[in-house]
Amino acid sequence: MTTTGQTTNERSGGRHRVVVIGSGFGGLFATKELKRADVEVTLIAKTSHHLFQPLLYQVATGILSQGEIAPPTREIFADQKNAKVLLGEVTDIDLENKLVTSVVLGRTTVTPYDSLIVAAGAGQSYFGNDHFSEFAPGMKSIDDALELRGRIFGAFELAELAETEEEVERLLTFVVVGAGPTGVEMAGQIAELAHNTLRKDFRRINTHAARVILVDAAPQVLPPFGAKLGASTQRSLEKRGVEVRLGEMVVDVDERGLVVQAKDGTRTRIDAVAKVWAAGVQASPLGKILAEQTGAPLDRAGRIGVNPDTTLPGHPEVFVIGDMMSLDNLPGVAQVAIQQGKYAAKEIKNRLKGRPPQKPFKYFDKGSMATISRFSAVALIGKIRLTGFIAWLMWLGVHLVYLTGFKNRFATLVKWFVTFISNNRSERAATEQQIFGRLALGKLEHGAADLVTPPGEWNRIREELVARAEEEARLTDSGQRGVRRETVGAGAGSGDSSNTNARISGA
Ligand SMILES: Cc1cc2nc3c(=O)[nH]c(=O)nc-3n(C[C@H](O)[C@H](O)[C@H](O)COP(=O)(O)OP(=O)(O)OC[C@H]3O[C@@H](n4cnc5c(N)ncnc54)[C@H](O)[C@@H]3O)c2cc1C
Repeated sequence: MTTTGQTTNERSGGRHRVVVIGSGFGGLFATKELKRADVEVTLIAKTSHHLFQPLLYQVATGILSQGEIAPPTREIFADQKNAKVLLGEVTDIDLENKLVTSVVLGRTTVTPYDSLIVAAGAGQSYFGNDHFSEFAPGMKSIDDALELRGRIFGAFELAELAETEEEVERLLTFVVVGAGPTGVEMAGQIAELAHNTLRKDFRRINTHAARVILVDAAPQVLPPFGAKLGASTQRSLEKRGVEVRLGEMVVDVDERGLVVQAKDGTRTRIDAVAKVWAAGVQASPLGKILAEQTGAPLDRAGRIGVNPDTTLPGHPEVFVIGDMMSLDNLPGVAQVAIQQGKYAAKEIKNRLKGRPPQKPFKYFDKGSMATISRFSAVALIGKIRLTGFIAWLMWLGVHLVYLTGFKNRFATLVKWFVTFISNNRSERAATEQQIFGRLALGKLEHGAADLVTPPGEWNRIREELVARAEEEARLTDSGQRGVRRETVGAGAGSGDSSNTNARISGA
């Protein structure tokens, strides 16, 4: 793979250059906070959208389309004149020379900064068993959600075609690993699909007979919500037909099922084609790159320890925020990233204005929520615990408020209204590519970059085409078309066999 090197030499007119890595909650709110500041912001992210992760499960289960929860970052900042957006996966941060290197499809860009905000979030963790991901996709990106949509709806389709009872059972067994908010939401939604939404759509299978299993090694569901709400959520899920298996750890996953191990070491195999991995997170590998240059500690989830003002030890110009940092046991939730994004941006503005630094970052906990199914949720706000319909209405309101853009809010509201009233899902389209594209790309050495001509190569091809075109014109202009040339050393009468009238393909 060849790469071209490009340095974005910001024409900042001497203005302070802020580079923000990541267009998630932290990066988005930091960039917005800098709107009126006398700075030049470059936001670099590996996707061209901002992703509202809390609603990914609704994309996976056919309620929302991906566009409704992933507005284009460029559009969000179209009116913010001091911000520009660059697509690219950051592969290196050089703290000494203040340079960020990003790559997209073999194209390399190096961006200098004066201040840096790193908000690259976290990915899925398979606790050292990354091969599980082949058959149990995680829930972190649009690709993940669309793949899961394909796998979930595809399992029902294949079950309708299955020839044996055993096959039908395997296809109609869905396993969700991880009983945190994402696992609870996924299990609740798959149960609702099987037991309600899809009931009338099939002729041979009884979707109501589908098994939805939620597995976790922990002793309760939703541990951060406390024992009481955890127990009530478990009851609610069981009432909706979800089998909750706690204290069981997944020790193997393959195409046709998985193996769980109980505390006493007993292993049980569960045959299931569709598996969802919603357990564990691993911070962005950029944390390791920063730790190596600063000696800052990394915790078990790869999160980098930061100072109380979210800066990197020894580098006051670098802020690390959100899911990829570790500070005061703060949870990996959107509000932490949002509040830290605003905090870091304010600190940069203060410094530029010569104002004193802010007090150390303090998180304001606005509460936690998770839906269980239609009309049912749990919420923990301070000491107040809410369950059922009221919690569900609050969940709807809060998620609408934080969804970016009026267009998205409006479209989501309409979809929710249709889905929750009619119990139908309008986003059930699924394709083979959705299901198998990730695995196919994974088989290539450099992923999608192997499928495109490297940018440098285009220049070579262009030069070749130009040379051929010039030669064509020269032959015509100098009257050499159709003229046989004698070749030196050729046998009598042989001549040059290449007729100059021959077309050059592609020229
Ligand atoms: C399925 C799911 C449901 C959730 N539900 C809730 C919820 O209900 N409530 C709640 O508060 N929180 C929820 N969370 C957690 C919440 O989404 C995160 O805490 C929050 O997104 C963290 O924000 P962040 O900015 O740190 O990272 P992210 O929002 O993850 O953003 C990271 C950004 O960095 C980019 N990036 C990553 N690596 C690179 C790289 N090398 N180069 C360039 N760009 C890079 C990514 O593309 C992305 O734009 C949920 C998370 C998931 C996955």
